[in-house]
Amino acid sequence: MNYCKDLRKVVKGKIVLDEPLKGHTTFRIGGPAKVWVEPYDVEDLKNILKFVKKNKISFFVIGEGSNLLVKDEGFNGIVIKLSSDYFNKIKSNNTCIIAGGGVKLSKLIDFAKRHSLGGCEFLSGIPGSIGGALAMNAGTRINSVINNQYQSIGDLVKEVEVIDFNGNRKILKARQLKFAYRSSNLLKYIILFAKLNLKPRARAEIENEITDYLSYRKRTQDSNWRNAGCVFKNPLSPSDKLLSAGYLIDACGLKKHRMGGAVVSSKHANFIINDKNAKARDVTNLIKYIKKVVKDEFDVELALELKIV
Ligand SMILES: Cc1cc2nc3c(=O)[nH]c(=O)nc-3n(C[C@H](O)[C@H](O)[C@H](O)COP(=O)(O)OP(=O)(O)OC[C@H]3O[C@@H](n4cnc5c(N)ncnc54)[C@H](O)[C@@H]3O)c2cc1C
Repeated sequence: MNYCKDLRKVVKGKIVLDEPLKGHTTFRIGGPAKVWVEPYDVEDLKNILKFVKKNKISFFVIGEGSNLLVKDEGFNGIVIKLSSDYFNKIKSNNTCIIAGGGVKLSKLIDFAKRHSLGGCEFLSGIPGSIGGALAMNAGTRINSVINNQYQSIGDLVKEVEVIDFNGNRKILKARQLKFAYRSSNLLKYIILFAKLNLKPRARAEIENEITDYLSYRKRTQDSNWRNAGCVFKNPLSPSDKLLSAGYLIDACGLKKHRMGGAVVSSKHANFIINDKNAKARDVTNLIKYIKKVVKDEFDVELALELKIV
């Protein structure tokens, strides 16, 4: 590996060559990363960014890999994972929680519950990290059974500490952040820490709400299967109302439609399942087919929520 020796000279954290990425995604699909790096701290991360810039190497940050499809040929560059202790700290300050970019959402929810802080219960069952969730503005319909309102992690943010790809650290206040449906202006940074606004709440109430969210997911989603959640964003109707991509796909009769090892879930038509050792190609072929059928049937262009790398 030509540049790896030089990378080792400037990085204290773990470096692995040809790391299979399928084990780092919930889809369990995809080839290897040429180089996998787990920076030890923010100085290490800065050195990696300097290195990729100087050597013109492609890179991306991976969270829990729960919104990713990695191509069969893998990623010809550096994949950065914020798995060290430095990026996984979590603490509270009155009603705020400060969590590192690598902290899993399940850890955030558990920490909030133990500190009797409410407001992030709606994230229960989303298998991402703080960094991935903020970049994607992850969220869900709240009290799904009762009404049709959405809540997203962006609604909780007080400020985010980031590093840009030139290695400059900065704090972005809520007013500098742009969160929209499954998108944010944070994809051009690496998220180091986030300060979230929560509110005092009785632990029993928090627990009940978490249980409700988890049982709703169990009823409506394939949580035991290999998938990456919703493949498509919910499209806007001509009157700017969110339509359900899952409903449109289902209405086209595409549940259980299969291409190779990839199949449309029979439970939630916006999920594609890696059923039988699916290749990324099976998934992308199925995506193309679904888009075409929905366009022909409803004249709606589905856009990907899933990130393909
Ligand atoms: C069963 C299941 C259910 C799901 N349900 C939901 C749901 O209800 N609502 C929802 O919104 N999503 C849902 N998802 C999708 C996914 O869990 C979310 O998008 C999640 O927030 C992605 O986080 P991640 O850490 O896995 O990010 P990854 O998939 O690893 O990465 C996603 C994007 O974020 C970027 N990223 C990751 N970390 C950082 C960082 N530190 N700084 C900057 N960018 C970063 C990556 O480069 C990539 O572009 C579901 C997925 C599954 C498998």
